[in-house]
Amino acid sequence: MVQSADKIKDHLPLFKEAEYQDMFARKRAEFENCHSDERIAEVAEWTKSWDYREKNLAREALVVNPQKACQPLGALFCAAGFDGTLGYVHGSQGCAAYFRSHLSRHFKEASSVVSDSMTEDAAVFGGLNNMIEGLANAYTLYKPKMIAVCTTCMAEVIGDDLQAFISNAKQKGSVPADFKVPYAHTPSFVGSHTTGYDNMMKGILQAFWEGQERVAGESVNIIPGFDGYSVANVRELKRIIKLMDANATILSDTSDVYDTPADGEFRMYAGGTTHEDTLAALNAKATISLSEGCTAQTLKYIEEKGQETVAFTYPMGLGATDDFLMALSRLTGKPIPTELEMERGRVVDAIADSMAWLHGKKFAVYGDPDFTLAMVRFLMELGAEPTHVLATNGGKKWEADMTALLATSPFGAESQVWAGRDLWHLRSILATEPADFLIGNSYGKYIEKDLGIPLIRLTFPIFDRHHHHRFPTMFYQGALRVLVSILDKIFDTMDASSDISFDLTR
Ligand code: SF4
Repeated sequence: MVQSADKIKDHLPLFKEAEYQDMFARKRAEFENCHSDERIAEVAEWTKSWDYREKNLAREALVVNPQKACQPLGALFCAAGFDGTLGYVHGSQGCAAYFRSHLSRHFKEASSVVSDSMTEDAAVFGGLNNMIEGLANAYTLYKPKMIAVCTTCMAEVIGDDLQAFISNAKQKGSVPADFKVPYAHTPSFVGSHTTGYDNMMKGILQAFWEGQERVAGESVNIIPGFDGYSVANVRELKRIIKLMDANATILSDTSDVYDTPADGEFRMYAGGTTHEDTLAALNAKATISLSEGCTAQTLKYIEEKGQETVAFTYPMGLGATDDFLMALSRLTGKPIPTELEMERGRVVDAIADSMAWLHGKKFAVYGDPDFTLAMVRFLMELGAEPTHVLATNGGKKWEADMTALLATSPFGAESQVWAGRDLWHLRSILATEPADFLIGNSYGKYIEKDLGIPLIRLTFPIFDRHHHHRFPTMFYQGALRVLVSILDKIFDTMDASSDISFDLTR
């Protein structure tokens, strides 16, 4: 073979070697039983037509490349933001491997999660024994301060009762009776990772708050929600809290666990909201959610406990950051400091500098409901036109919220909103009604290649680029980062297609 230990080649140059090319050609000719190249090209072209689009949009019984993950992924992400917490999957090992790899590929960081590996016998008799042994093993081997349990489809289909199983396991001595084992049922055939985040956050708060008496105080809780940029966004949030000298607790702080240093020490647990702070959060005056779509049930529970709640849809861009800071200022009684006002002014200045390049550019945006709402709002602030907006996990509420948002600006007049649609739908939509740019996650690269619409990666998951999550997308600093990402792609695209104007100064 052409690969040699003296000169290891990456798969890209390796597969271009004659030996591989010959092998691929023979495999195709002898085993694949393919149609002719002409026929394949003809059908591929037809899939970009209005005729195919109508058939594709009429599709009901099949989803192709949905832009959402399943509930346990969000639940495990939420749990990872609490001090010393081990995520525990009651169900199939293969599902746990998917959650771990999904998070690891995005953050380029180990993602520690255990599973009690239910197999055929558990599917027939129930997974109680798996829970008894699994909790004991996880507690003994990995020495967590808390184990947060969620479920996969398998456990949900057979109807395993987590509360009963966990208390049974405690009676059998798997973990000490006072050891915290919050849980969330996370059936993946409903909702998405955002629902899973919500369920786990509520489960963790219940584990700390039930049976406690609330003594109303003056602090404020902030729940960041599911966010692929949490490493930088939560650090940015902490900087803002410090600048404002605000008394605020972040519930689920994942900024350290997904960004541990390479200093010779493996940290299975890093940072996170302390148990003391989680308990004390019951006494907060109010809770602010940065992600309404990740906290519907949680906020309801918090309101029942007597707190005011305020929900945002991802404070990205100018107006959304203004709204968040004003709410934080109102609830904490702390003024917005001059430093943040200066930051805001610099963002306005940057937008003004670049306005001419952004005005009238057409964007297709896809992702989670909150991300798309934030992105669309910011695009319209920039004078850009979000012509197609798609959220696979967006329902009727998202559709109504998005439609109302688009109606606030002339830049939203031509927009179409696609709730519950997948990326294969978006391919058809863009093949027939193209946009200038696509904003989403790594999965959009297939549309980029296929239709020639440049992709700007700005949301989870980003597997094929490194370290984006180390830079914020929220608040004023995040607005600058998002602005620069969009502008870079605009200028790169212009330069790549320039034949008469390859200007040095833009
Ligand atoms: S959808 Fe169900 S079976 Fe698939 S990975 Fe998620 S929990 Fe597992």
